[in-house]
Amino acid sequence: MRIINGVRMIIGLLRDLRLMSHKEKADFYRAKCEYYQGIVELSLLVACLTSVCFLYSDYMINGSFIPTLLPRLSILVFIAIFFIATHVNSSTSLLVFMDYFLGHGTVIAASWTAYNLVDNSNSVTGIIIVNLLWIVIGFVSSPIDTTINGIVFIIEIWITNIFNHYTNYEVILSLEIPCIIGIMVVHYIMTAFYLDHYRVTQKLELSMVTDPLTQVYNRHLLEEIVSKNSLKDVSPMENVSVAMIDIDDFKKINDVNGHYTGDITLFYIGQKLSERFSDDGYVIRYGGEEFVVIHKNCTLDEAQNRMEKFRMDIENASDTPVPFTISVGVTSYTGDYGKTIQSVDEALYEAKNTGKNKVVVR
Ligand code: GH3
Ligand code: MG
Ligand code: MG
Repeated sequence: MRIINGVRMIIGLLRDLRLMSHKEKADFYRAKCEYYQGIVELSLLVACLTSVCFLYSDYMINGSFIPTLLPRLSILVFIAIFFIATHVNSSTSLLVFMDYFLGHGTVIAASWTAYNLVDNSNSVTGIIIVNLLWIVIGFVSSPIDTTINGIVFIIEIWITNIFNHYTNYEVILSLEIPCIIGIMVVHYIMTAFYLDHYRVTQKLELSMVTDPLTQVYNRHLLEEIVSKNSLKDVSPMENVSVAMIDIDDFKKINDVNGHYTGDITLFYIGQKLSERFSDDGYVIRYGGEEFVVIHKNCTLDEAQNRMEKFRMDIENASDTPVPFTISVGVTSYTGDYGKTIQSVDEALYEAKNTGKNKVVVR
């Protein structure tokens, strides 16, 4: 029963994976790689360094360390290339490629070693051990990478057999094919399980930055989008405007109609702001009845027009829990987030002090 439930769960997760858009899939594999790369890198390094210890078994076969010393130590060159390449560029695709590169480095070093052994009948053991590396690398790669790698590995065995004439070549191949199929199945299962973790993390991250009452972002989002006092994903050439919206006399709404009406009024304005402005920017509940809208790709004039229309629509809306108005400050983002917030706050303050229910630009 547990097995059937497990299979059902994996099928459901793999269907979820199949239905992802191209971009979503890329994000998913990037997150998978970021999560596991450290541990994969460490395991690969340990595996590569311990492969040098096989010099002792080489000695038992050859009666000397000398013939296999260089082939065994050649893995250090692959390790060096791995570290240089991943230091220069740490994109997901390069990391995965370099993990496989290091795995194949051990295959090349081992094949060279086998060439220098008087008896290579133990090669089958080495080839089975290499499959453990493919399982480990599967934590960061996609099942498609695993499939390609399996084909490359079989070709590698075929090519190295031309030089090494493995005494049990047929046995090696007959063992390798079910190994590769098994690894592919394991990788699909691992990917599905990571997807489960990924979805839970996504939900947690979203709930961290979502205001439970209004369902728009809360101030925690600013920690993600603001870094070193600037908006992270905004280029210097881009026009960005910021608006601060505050409900007029909201305290009175609470006092006259009760807190529940106050709450649904907040939910109402949150929804309206989100419907209108979240596609091209961020809507954030900044404080009690105060919201900030970051309008991306939007000049100050456009932002003023947008907010003026929004203010009028709220004033004239017939579906509000209670009639209410808003005051709005608008300013353009200058590259200095702190100053922008200060300026938009001053604009809002002016709107409040000069009669409310208006938009003031600064
Ligand atoms: P002004 O026009 O100057 O903005 O006056 P105001 O009454 O809107 O502003 P004030 O700052 O005096 O009061 C804001 C009120 O918002 C006080 C607080 O109790 C209420 N409030 C803050 N958060 C919530 C909430 O989550 N739900 C409800 N119902 N009320 C809230
Ligand atoms: Mg208010
Ligand atoms: Mg306020």
